[in-house]
Amino acid sequence: MPTHKTKNRFDIIVIGGGPAGMMAAGRGAERGAKVLLLEKTYRLGSKLLLTGGGHCNITNNANIDEMVAAFGKEGKFLYRALTVFSNKDLIGFFESRGLKMRTEPDGRVLPASGRAEAVLAVLRAYLKANKVTILHNNPVESIKDMGAAKIIVATGGKSYPATGSTGDGYKMAKQAGHTIVPLSPGLSALVSNSPFIKDLQGLTLKDIVISVIIDGKKKEEEKGDLLFTHFGVSGPIILNLSGKIIDALSNKSKVELALNLHPEDFSFFGSKTVSQYFKKILPASLSLVFEKIHSSILNKKCGTLSRQERETIAGHLAAFKIAIIGSRPIEEATITRGGVSLKEINPRTMESKLVKGLYFCGEILDLAGLTGGYNLQEAFSTGYLAGESAAFAAIS
Ligand SMILES: Cc1cc2nc3c(=O)[nH]c(=O)nc-3n(C[C@H](O)[C@H](O)[C@H](O)COP(=O)(O)OP(=O)(O)OC[C@H]3O[C@@H](n4cnc5c(N)ncnc54)[C@H](O)[C@@H]3O)c2cc1C
Repeated sequence: MPTHKTKNRFDIIVIGGGPAGMMAAGRGAERGAKVLLLEKTYRLGSKLLLTGGGHCNITNNANIDEMVAAFGKEGKFLYRALTVFSNKDLIGFFESRGLKMRTEPDGRVLPASGRAEAVLAVLRAYLKANKVTILHNNPVESIKDMGAAKIIVATGGKSYPATGSTGDGYKMAKQAGHTIVPLSPGLSALVSNSPFIKDLQGLTLKDIVISVIIDGKKKEEEKGDLLFTHFGVSGPIILNLSGKIIDALSNKSKVELALNLHPEDFSFFGSKTVSQYFKKILPASLSLVFEKIHSSILNKKCGTLSRQERETIAGHLAAFKIAIIGSRPIEEATITRGGVSLKEINPRTMESKLVKGLYFCGEILDLAGLTGGYNLQEAFSTGYLAGESAAFAAIS
């Protein structure tokens, strides 16, 4: 740990070297402050390197209202940060430093090279150019005794603890009197106890319509790709729906997903058996599941089915239900929901309303965006604003 004397040499101490902390440190130093960045692990940005499957989906080309909406009801907290440092500013930040970006048809923005390492390299160069002092292998345990410096806490959430994000900052925030909104997995895969789930492991259904049914009532409908795993379901839509589902489960509601598997008209299959019908319209593993469920009529010809039998099969195909009983643990989630209460943070500066000179940015805040680059944009925008504000307060 740096000594008291060392700490006193700095205007700003940033705790945590993820995207939020790196941006906060770099911007603070660019604005003229002497900045110390303390990182717990041996390297900066370990989680950043994992993002977007190593391709780093850095932001989204959505407009500011869409960006804010991606964070649900908490999103309006971000207006100021997204105005001061927008997605266009973030793209400009990297492109002006030689890293070309590309925008996918769905709005996701990634480095053209597809390499998260290249993003980290630009951030490291930014810190170096602005003479930020970096101390690796420096886990901060307490924010007391930090000298006269402004402190920026950017320790991230609790998911993927091997990257260094083990939730230490929540303790620091509590120590300073802050409220922590209860933590839960964000953008998480979901666990099912439906008996057939293991038989479907590895199957991906593309562009499928999924309805969320809570206590028997349809609440939401989304279209996209769904992946069956050994424990349940995953895929971008599932991750985006997971927040509401986890909330419903914690309220003891019954949650089911209904997949529309597009039943085809039986009249085209008159002379074929029900078994052949399933094999024709469904992927192999799903066809086997349907064959098990409808085993009593499998050898019947489609043309000889009673109206009730046809309706049962068609109804089952139009709403194939998967019972959801939970999510994967927070350690495996993409982000952490909950965190430092936004009510106690000034959205214009990221400074604590409770402790002067203390700032928070990034995932530690009670903000959780959808997939698509929103969470990294949040980390960069709030980091930038925290660095800017802390430097202004420190040297003005
Ligand atoms: C697998 C995966 C893929 C993802 N893909 C995307 C994506 O494509 N697009 C997107 O927008 N978001 C993505 N995310 C989310 C994104 O990674 C996070 O939102 C983002 O990293 C949060 O940045 P942060 O700086 O707040 O925290 P972190 O990146 O978690 O960084 C926190 C840093 O603080 C350090 N630290 C912790 N405790 C201490 C301590 N006590 N003392 C000193 N240092 C400490 C940690 O070691 C770490 O370096 C993904 C997340 C995961 C897990």
